[in-house]
Amino acid sequence: MSMLVNPGDLNPEDLREAIRRLQQELPDLLGSSYSSFIAELNTLLPQGSNDELLTLFFLYPAAYNRLQHFLGFFSAGHGLYGDSISKPAVLYICPVGEHYVDEMDVQQKDVFGRPICPKHGKLLRLAP
Ligand SMILES: [Zn+2]
Repeated sequence: MSMLVNPGDLNPEDLREAIRRLQQELPDLLGSSYSSFIAELNTLLPQGSNDELLTLFFLYPAAYNRLQHFLGFFSAGHGLYGDSISKPAVLYICPVGEHYVDEMDVQQKDVFGRPICPKHGKLLRLAP
């Protein structure tokens, strides 16, 4: 796996926002590694550099892949890196555990065309 994110290009606030969005998924993603990961993350979050944070994530591929996903959401959807013309990515919230689901990850819709969580089978609502 290669380092897809260039730490130098990344706004530290964007990285922290992506981590914040990811955090609720971490217990599922990391399983038994969760507690040691979180301990390291909490040490780094207050003043760690992008590089240090990404290096930690890099050691945990499941978390790293999801982080890439959220960072891609920022760059593709919010125009923070220059492209404000592209269509914003749509992000939903699942009522189970309040985790986020990207429009791209929705595989099923109900009869009214409303998106359903691929993991929990519950109706999603639009993220604020
Ligand atoms: Zn869900």
